[in-house]
Amino acid sequence: MSKSYAQVVLPLSAEKQFTYAVPLSLRRQVKVGSRVLVPLAQRTMTGIVVALVGESPFPQVREVLDLLDSEPIFDATMLQLTHWISEYYLCSWGEAFKAALPAGFWRKGKRSIRLREPYARALARKLRKSSPLKAGIVEMLMRRGKVSDAALARRVGREGLFVALNQLRRAGYVQVLEESAKSRVGVRTERAARLRASPEETRSAMERLKEKAPKQAAGLEVLLQLGGTAWVAELSTKAGISGQSMRRLQEKGLVEVFDRESPREAYADLTLGSPPKHRLTQYQREALDKVKDAVEKGKFQVFLLHGVTGSGKTEVYIRAIRRTLEKGRRAIVLVPEISLTPQTAARFRAHFGHQVAVFHSGLSLGERYDAWRRMRAGHYGIVVGARSAIFAPLRDVGLIVVDEEHVDSYKQTEAQPRYHARDVAVMRGKLCGAVVLLGSATPSLESYHNVQRKKFSFCPLPQRVDELPMPTVQIVDMRQERKEGNWGIFSGILKEKIGQRLERGEQVILFLNRRGFSTCIKCQECGFVMACPHCNVTLTYHAQDLTVKCHYCGLRQSAPDICPSCHGHHIKFRGTGTQRVEREVKELFPGSRVLRVDQDTTGRKGDIRRILDEFRDGRAEMLLGTQMIAKGLDFPRVTLVGVVSADGGLNLPDFRSAERTFQLITQVAGRAGRGQPGGEVLVQTYSPEEICIRLSQDHDYLSFAHHELRGRRELAYPPFGKLLLVLLQSTEEIRAAQAAEKLATGLKDEAHRLGCRDVHILGPAAAPLSKIRGQHRWQVLLKGPKSATLRQLFRQAKRRAGRWPPWPGVRVRVIVDPVEML
Ligand SMILES: [Zn+2]
Ligand SMILES: [Zn+2]
Repeated sequence: MSKSYAQVVLPLSAEKQFTYAVPLSLRRQVKVGSRVLVPLAQRTMTGIVVALVGESPFPQVREVLDLLDSEPIFDATMLQLTHWISEYYLCSWGEAFKAALPAGFWRKGKRSIRLREPYARALARKLRKSSPLKAGIVEMLMRRGKVSDAALARRVGREGLFVALNQLRRAGYVQVLEESAKSRVGVRTERAARLRASPEETRSAMERLKEKAPKQAAGLEVLLQLGGTAWVAELSTKAGISGQSMRRLQEKGLVEVFDRESPREAYADLTLGSPPKHRLTQYQREALDKVKDAVEKGKFQVFLLHGVTGSGKTEVYIRAIRRTLEKGRRAIVLVPEISLTPQTAARFRAHFGHQVAVFHSGLSLGERYDAWRRMRAGHYGIVVGARSAIFAPLRDVGLIVVDEEHVDSYKQTEAQPRYHARDVAVMRGKLCGAVVLLGSATPSLESYHNVQRKKFSFCPLPQRVDELPMPTVQIVDMRQERKEGNWGIFSGILKEKIGQRLERGEQVILFLNRRGFSTCIKCQECGFVMACPHCNVTLTYHAQDLTVKCHYCGLRQSAPDICPSCHGHHIKFRGTGTQRVEREVKELFPGSRVLRVDQDTTGRKGDIRRILDEFRDGRAEMLLGTQMIAKGLDFPRVTLVGVVSADGGLNLPDFRSAERTFQLITQVAGRAGRGQPGGEVLVQTYSPEEICIRLSQDHDYLSFAHHELRGRRELAYPPFGKLLLVLLQSTEEIRAAQAAEKLATGLKDEAHRLGCRDVHILGPAAAPLSKIRGQHRWQVLLKGPKSATLRQLFRQAKRRAGRWPPWPGVRVRVIVDPVEML
């Protein structure tokens, strides 16, 4: 007997499944993983069927309204993966589904009710005694004609409304209309034309028409050339055929015009080019042999490809993908940032042509909708994208590449699910028997630790391709410069080296991870420091428009010329941002051209790509930027990289600050000497003795990793311990603080009850960034050897609270495995 009830998950934050009856007409087609339209209170919503059952736990259930696709939209792997996400990251299954399926697929709408006329008056009279509720409904419908579910509920109350409505509907008295449950995006179609006659008939018609109607003949010719079908727009450009001639051809029965889907495709213009030829280094070959071997076996295995900058990791990816495609399986390639996808996709298209799809959250709604459907339909063998591409609906994925796996942007922190795409990639690989290839010049300590524990296999690429040497790195002690009386932004040696490069016609990259002009605005008389009234951070002065700005909430004011506190006239703009460096460079090297890449110069789509292209074409000698230029860029003419200050991230109250500093210096340094020998890097710092700075001098990742891991082990920080961060935010500080206090107490009680002695509950404490956008932030941090224990503790505390969150006016954000502690 077929199952007549469906358990449905809706895209809501409540961890709940809803039961619906499956009408007979749909019972054969509705399957686990199907996308269905269901009623919920006054709305209709899209949900995913997660189970089919023979009996309903409730006597009264509503019916599934519609099935939205002929095939289930989620296969078994994706159902398991999304379910794992909800369990691991403490979100609802619906939120995990929402992350995995673009917005265009989640239709929702309203219901409205109408009375079937002939019965109206008699019915109302009849019902007045037996059921005042039904009578009320009918009377309202008589007065208003058509009424929404919500309006009806407001009028007659919600109690018993659905049962009454259902009875009225079944008796044929009222009609329920599902309205506006339309998708926000649909399939885009365009006019196309196809031949109706056979090629021979068409050819003879062409001959006949050549004299009298040359345009029509030309149209037929182009259609024949294109295999019988073409866009109408295409015909009009290629054959010059007008609408009228088109109609004539239709009247003659030669051509038929119809609507055909025209998929929206981002980056359709990316040139295919031809792939460059590379001879593999010995290390590349060894790594590739291991990976190919695993691809061959078709079993789950994770590799950590530790390749120094310029060691040819992408070449290894490409060849591993080729092997995967040959085996008839598919590949997903993740890159850390949307801005890097065009560049990577272009490189892959040079090898694999139109089998490569681009997918990320920066695409338009329509582009994402179409790309998703085409991926699902099997149009592509490879998907390149940022974080969310890990959910690409490819069937039979055999290889997942996570490039620059150490980058924090793989972690989603704002909305649920707060997943880490690298970890989801490993889980997806496990579920579908795929090889997972993690690549980085500076692997995260989590991944390297997994190598030590023999969970991941290690593939080192310690040499650059084409026998290019690693750039030499020199640490410049800025304290010494100050002692010698140099108070400028640049040390003597950096100035000198820049000058040399400019003379030789080579290019220079300058790096500073702070935008704006001055990062500190301070009154010299009273010591007042300008801070944002909505955020607990200092304001940054922007010289371009003479304003001060908050980089967290976007507050913008004109720069003060007198102290807002004591009205004195001695305001000082201190601290160096990219704008000040830009001005200084222009003064020191008049006539040189500098391009600046930071959030202020790249506000619009395509800005980054344009600036980087200009630099590549040699239209400027210098590229100056924030961390936006630290990763993945390859400019063969760059022989000098100057790190203006390595110290920015060092003193942040975050246990990962040394790891981040090491990564950043190594990555930026890696931009030097990629096309010719003689690459040099200068790193300016006030803390030359810091291990993370000292070891970056020798590109010595392994020593750094071992040193840092020792420290982490002592403090039981990741990767040795697990963290769960709960952030409590409120516009009133007292509410956030009290909620944090209560949560910490609740968790401690729970830990005591469950006997978890190895769990530390740290806090309540104000978060390091204690206020952002007017929201006061308090936090409680759970630390312990096992993630499962921490999650269980939190779940228990939540369950015990009943309503969640139990504190009015407080927003709670739970982050499993947080990557930033601010
Ligand atoms: Zn602010
Ligand atoms: Zn003052």
